[in-house]
Amino acid sequence: MPVSRSINQDDLRNHNMSVVLSTMARSRVPLSRAALAKQTGLTKATLSLLSDILLKNRVIRQLEPAAVVSYGRPSTPLAFRPGRWVGLGMQINTDGFGYTVLDIDGTVTASEWRDRPMGDVDPDEIFAELDAMMRPVEERLAADGAVVTGCELALPGLVADGNRLLVARNFGWRDIDLNRYAVVSRLGAVADNEATLAAIAQIPGFAAQRSSDDWPIGPSDSFVYVSTDVGIGGAYVREGQIVRGDHGFAGEIGHMCVDVHGALCRCGRHGCLEMFAGRRAVMLSSGLASDAATAVDAGMPARLIEAWHAGDTGAALAVENALAALAAAIASTVNVVDVSNVMVGGLWSGFGDDLRADLERRVQSQILARDAVKVRLMFPPVTEHPAMYGAAVMGLHRFTGDPMRFLESA
Ligand SMILES: [Zn+2]
Repeated sequence: MPVSRSINQDDLRNHNMSVVLSTMARSRVPLSRAALAKQTGLTKATLSLLSDILLKNRVIRQLEPAAVVSYGRPSTPLAFRPGRWVGLGMQINTDGFGYTVLDIDGTVTASEWRDRPMGDVDPDEIFAELDAMMRPVEERLAADGAVVTGCELALPGLVADGNRLLVARNFGWRDIDLNRYAVVSRLGAVADNEATLAAIAQIPGFAAQRSSDDWPIGPSDSFVYVSTDVGIGGAYVREGQIVRGDHGFAGEIGHMCVDVHGALCRCGRHGCLEMFAGRRAVMLSSGLASDAATAVDAGMPARLIEAWHAGDTGAALAVENALAALAAAIASTVNVVDVSNVMVGGLWSGFGDDLRADLERRVQSQILARDAVKVRLMFPPVTEHPAMYGAAVMGLHRFTGDPMRFLESA
């Protein structure tokens, strides 16, 4: 029937366009139409049509033709055109909140973070403050003619479909319909787990132009991401895609038990990794913080690192216990999912390469296939509020994953 034929062609064009945008984003260098055709498997005629649509909609621009050509016409590289297509990421974390605006060309065009301890804070209050922070940003983007392709909100907790926050234990928040907050509904923001979004931030070219040639992993690599702060979260990326599990809750490495007789965790279990290597636990056991409120203060990680470098006994013992627990949990995870790459972001990525190498050795010694497999433990390339950055990446992914919804055909 004519109707279904037309729908299929639209779907096909949308799919092809998505492949082209993704290929451009993942590439280290700007690609010509011919190079894009070769890499995507699309015909040159299709590429020509799709690039016309992208030019018309001001998604891409043509760079100067390459100076040296072997034969035929000089090839014109295509690049994302800055200043129009942006993703918006917001985050509420245990130590503050903020936003990032990410252009599809890979540039962060605006970003703000406000330090604010969040122990048992009222969600209405925080969402009102975030709302006030976002209003001038939205006005500026509208005045600049930017198209906000999507907005995501990173939260340190379990987020179910339909924007329902089941629990964020380090805030004391439980079962909240996030759509009731004006900033969420106005921006159409989709909430997601902070570790998941922080992991997405580390995948080069996931939805915006990769920002560096020098990236420790490729766009299709697999890795485990461990997010360490007051809480410890995690995410599992297989061949460049997040593995979310049946309910979207996969990767909660922070609540992996490393001592069945250990201290009671906020989750109700005993001896969770978070009770050894989470920020609150480490600050308290090091003796640097005397109470839970001080432990989550923004300046505490720097003080711990300084005390540890200075050879402070309390800091050394707390770090030793944390490393032993981290190694046990990470090695168990690697043994379960079989990956070669592990990224540890957040608190522990501030400790420098000696600690990284130490942790890597400890993990390696506990891998069942240790004689055959070499595990690479690294600090992530994106370290500045990675979940907020990843939320903005996901905002752009709404466009690159379903582009024709946003574009006028040529
Ligand atoms: Zn726990």
